[in-house]
Amino acid sequence: MNFGKRIGLTLSLAAMLAGTSAFAQNLQSVSNYSSRHDKLLARQSTIGEQIRLEETEQYANQLYEECEPEPDIYTEGWESGLVNSYKNAVVPDQATIDVSDFHMPCPGIVTSPYGYRPRFRRMHKGVDLRSAIGDTIYAAFDGKVRLTKYERGGYGYYVILRHTNGLETVYGHLSKFLVHPDDVVKAGDPIALSGNTGRSFGPHLHFETRFMGYAINPSALFDFENQTVRAEEYAFDKRTYEKAPSYNPKRS
Ligand SMILES: [Zn+2]
Repeated sequence: MNFGKRIGLTLSLAAMLAGTSAFAQNLQSVSNYSSRHDKLLARQSTIGEQIRLEETEQYANQLYEECEPEPDIYTEGWESGLVNSYKNAVVPDQATIDVSDFHMPCPGIVTSPYGYRPRFRRMHKGVDLRSAIGDTIYAAFDGKVRLTKYERGGYGYYVILRHTNGLETVYGHLSKFLVHPDDVVKAGDPIALSGNTGRSFGPHLHFETRFMGYAINPSALFDFENQTVRAEEYAFDKRTYEKAPSYNPKRS
């Protein structure tokens, strides 16, 4: 909210105006300054109009709009049908995400970590968790189902949930959906059954955590081995999120 800044600006403009008038009066008798004088007067009248405008009801309405709460989290790209529905959104540089009500999507350990995979020359934007075909997959947090979809060359059958903490989670290679788009879910609710669909070489759950489209390393948020969160809150930073500690049980 920049009301304070506006007030400050208005005051400094008023001070400038006062100074300008005095300056203009001193210059009145000096003819070779007259063109500059005219310019000053012109500028002065523009500033005056601006201030009058700011005093109007229109300005008050604008301020009121700036006080309005954040838009509903379930509107941005909800109908896009895309994994990243935030392509046209302005993503804040930093954000604090409350991950305290986390529930394990399945009890399995991490079999493949988040990060660049030289073999496939692409980023692995989530972690793979060990699971058998038919194992129950659970919602990681409270939220709402945005998407249930099939993608032959990638995620297979997959579910995307949008959560009240601002994250989205993606669950891939499923064999069966237990939820429908727009269903409201609680952390720990069954949402699907695990499988081996799409680009998958053996049954597992592909699990992603995204903040406004930015795929964060799930292992930077959760300690899958001990089935808990690393901390109650996660500090998202747009510049460094990909370098988030690459917790990798295999390498450590
Ligand atoms: Zn994967």
